[in-house]
Order: sequence, then structure tokens, then C-alpha cells
Amino acid sequence: MHGLRYDGEIEKAKRYAEEPERFRFDDFTVRFDGDNNGHIVTCAQGDLRCDCEFFSIRQVCSHTMALERLLHDMLPEPGHGLNELGVMTPGETSTRVSPRKLKV
Ligand SMILES: [Zn+2]
Repeated sequence: MHGLRYDGEIEKAKRYAEEPERFRFDDFTVRFDGDNNGHIVTCAQGDLRCDCEFFSIRQVCSHTMALERLLHDMLPEPGHGLNELGVMTPGETSTRVSPRKLKV
């Protein structure tokens, strides 16, 4: 059989799998196997929701945070965020270059 070139596809797949920023999850449902109970985390345009009690109070929980960690590059930015609740924002780190000694 020579019709389909799987080799090329496999090579591409390997490369793509190493570049998670290429992927964007939109809407999905995840069954989460928690320590005590199972939970269902849903995502709508990058907006994560969980059915657990903690989430209903805090709008964030260990389950959504775990998923954010796993998918951080692959989740789209939510249109209107929950940022007042302390969602992590990338901090600016100013790296100081050590001053070079100039010989005059
Ligand atoms: Zn939860």
C-alpha cells in the first residue's frame, strides 16, 4: 500500500504535539476524579466552571485550577474574566544586566 503517506503525518504530529500553543480548546466537558467525589468541569470559550461547592462560592476551585495548569497555553482568553478573584497574571520581571566594566 502506497496511497497515504503516514510517515509525513506522524512526523507532523510529533512536531505539533510539542507546540501546545497551536491548540485551542473552546467548549468541552471534563470528568474529574477527585479525592472524595467526582466532579464535572465545563469550559465555554475558555471560561472554566465546576459543579463543586467550593466553585459555587469562590468561582474558582482546585479542579479548575488544576485544569488551567494542564492546559495553560491551550485555553483561550475568556472574554470577560474573573480577575478580581486573583487569577494569576504574568508578572513583569525586569532582568538587570550586570554592568560591564569599560576600560578607558
Ligand atoms: Zn471544583
